[in-house]
Amino acid sequence: MTDSDVNATPAGTTQHMAKIFCVANQKGGVGKTTTTVNLAAGLAKVGQRVLMIDLDPQGNATMGSGVDKRKLALTVYDVLLESASIAEARVQSEKLISAGCGYDILGANRELAGAEVELVEVERRERRLKAAIAAVETEYDFVLIDCPPSLSMLTLNGLCCAHGVIVPMQCEYFALEGLTDLVNTIKQVKANLNDDLQIIGLLRVMFDPRITLQQQVSEQLKGHFGDKVFDTVIPRNVRLAEAPSYGVPGVVFDIQSRGAQAFIAFAQEMVARIATM
Ligand code: ATP
Ligand code: MG
Repeated sequence: MTDSDVNATPAGTTQHMAKIFCVANQKGGVGKTTTTVNLAAGLAKVGQRVLMIDLDPQGNATMGSGVDKRKLALTVYDVLLESASIAEARVQSEKLISAGCGYDILGANRELAGAEVELVEVERRERRLKAAIAAVETEYDFVLIDCPPSLSMLTLNGLCCAHGVIVPMQCEYFALEGLTDLVNTIKQVKANLNDDLQIIGLLRVMFDPRITLQQQVSEQLKGHFGDKVFDTVIPRNVRLAEAPSYGVPGVVFDIQSRGAQAFIAFAQEMVARIATM
């Protein structure tokens, strides 16, 4: 059997493979988790099959998807240590399904913090997640990975399996400087571990158009990164901030809110982007 046989169905058509995206920024509290869960919900809403992977020991994306991280029997930790497959460890959330925004969840909790140390000793340690995703890749259109606020072994595992990185950022004074480390890390991973990797786009989040500085930084970003800046802008919107305390993404909590509508628009932009990838 050749490589091309693996990806081909008997009819000769290419079998569908998920596009895999990391949501990453080593800066804390910039909106990674909010982006991951709302994009996942938005994509599900527009008919895409989505797997959301929480790669942060804080487990915020897990909780924010309506799954209690303390009650999980299996998590992404077990997958990284190869004691469970994604098919065994993924769960669903009734709250999301009943809102018509159901996506699969590979959850995380504090246990994942230990993986950092345990993975140091093992072979192919950066490629564990990639291997696990390969087994379920045909079941999804999108795999979204919520990364922790660091450039750690966990983030590296995410970057190793991704086709692209979505970088949420606030339009603040030091926004561009903060990107340098991330851009360099992505370059290194691309050179050494994952030739596919690219920044698919910068997403302006928590945007307030009344603040002149934010408009200026937004223009600067477009000047530097051109069409790598997504057209969609996510406004600062209190409904997005309230949603996690109800254990749902903003898109589920209040679909009419400006924040939710922006994430639906972003989901549509992502669907259009992958069509050209
Ligand atoms: P960490 O680095 O800790 O993982 P993060 O980058 O995942 O953080 P979030 O948890 O998504 O960031 O967001 C940080 C805070 O900002 C949260 O309280 C969240 O509810 C709030 N927030 C995020 N996006 C928006 C928005 N567009 N409007 C209002 N509040 C927002
Ligand atoms: Mg987070």
